Amino acid sequence: MDRVNLLGLDAAELKHLVEGLDEKSFRARQLSRWIHRRGAAGFDAMTDLAKSLRGKLAQCAQIAAPVVLRDSTSVDGSRKWLLDVGQGNAIEAVFIPEDDRGTLCISTQAGCAMNCLFCSTGKQGFNRNLTTAEIVGQLWLAEHALRAANGITAEHERVISNVVLMGMGEPLQNLDAVVPALRLMLDGDAYGLSRRRVTVSTSGLVRQIDKLAEQCPVALAVSLHAPNDALRDRLVPLNRKHPLRELMAACRRYLRVAPRDFITFEYVMLDGINDADAHARELVDLVADVPCKFNLIPFNSFPGSGLARSTAERMRAFAQILTAAGVVTTTRKTRGDDIDAACGQLAGEVRDRTRLSERRADRIPHVVAA
Ligand code: SAH
Ligand code: SF4
Repeated sequence: MDRVNLLGLDAAELKHLVEGLDEKSFRARQLSRWIHRRGAAGFDAMTDLAKSLRGKLAQCAQIAAPVVLRDSTSVDGSRKWLLDVGQGNAIEAVFIPEDDRGTLCISTQAGCAMNCLFCSTGKQGFNRNLTTAEIVGQLWLAEHALRAANGITAEHERVISNVVLMGMGEPLQNLDAVVPALRLMLDGDAYGLSRRRVTVSTSGLVRQIDKLAEQCPVALAVSLHAPNDALRDRLVPLNRKHPLRELMAACRRYLRVAPRDFITFEYVMLDGINDADAHARELVDLVADVPCKFNLIPFNSFPGSGLARSTAERMRAFAQILTAAGVVTTTRKTRGDDIDAACGQLAGEVRDRTRLSERRADRIPHVVAA
């Protein structure tokens, strides 16, 4: 019998499991704290649980994060884990430290079916959805590896304050696994993150935006990239199914329940394609009735993309038009360039699947704070 992976169970499911073992339901909370808050990887350490319960758990359950294939740290302090999710599929999680927060960017699918023109994950195609355990496993692994690296032993001292679902994959295409993962991120007996500090990024799956609003509203980022349908159809093929009018309406509906009172629009800056003054002015009109902030992302090139990053001067002029119209606009700093951890570069390592077995040979075991 396969043992159930406890990293994939939210509070209700963990309670169900514990009750099924004829134990009191509060044991589930204790178990959750051991796993998520203290990073326990086995049951022996859980000294406040009866030995008999630990024995039963060891029989039917396990705590298993994806295996680390590579663990690299950038000169700018960001850290990337390349993780094996079986059958030649690898995913990535990236930690980005800043003065006032620590952000973990996690993946939700191996590959992606959306095929956006400028994205290397999209070029790889869709392999499969990640499970809740694989999604939460990235956070579990990163949080406890970072605590160990920083010599942190206190249960309540977190390194990761923000999580963004902006790694590989389209999170809203994998809502069934993503929603329980979000619940665990918010759960005080697990990661206890603020709803405002957990961000789902989507290329614009309209119906699933509504479902997210119903099931677990967190901060929302929408990958816009173009101010009109003709251009967006080319850059984000999904737009042919859900044009901008529908997408803007979905954003407005989402704001009724969102923990933040604005949508973040991501906009990748592509030289000579979507970065003219006229595009910026068109954007101002497009978002006139959607409270929002803009995040301009310098395009990160990858081999064979045939696209180039807008110049710094162009990005400044573009941002200036939005700002002058009252739209708060930031330009994302490119981080982790030297370890291929910047946006859209995450699949670079993975594409050459034939080399995966070689890389397995130099696996670096991960650190687990028990
Ligand atoms: N699939 C979701 C989340 C993952 S992509 C989405 O598209 O929103 C996260 C962000 O990285 C998106 O805004 C995406 O447009 C951006 N991105 C993808 N490829 C990029 C590249 N080559 N350079 C810069 N940003 C990129
Ligand atoms: Fe998928 Fe997002 Fe890349 Fe588009 S940008 S292909 S939705 S991961």
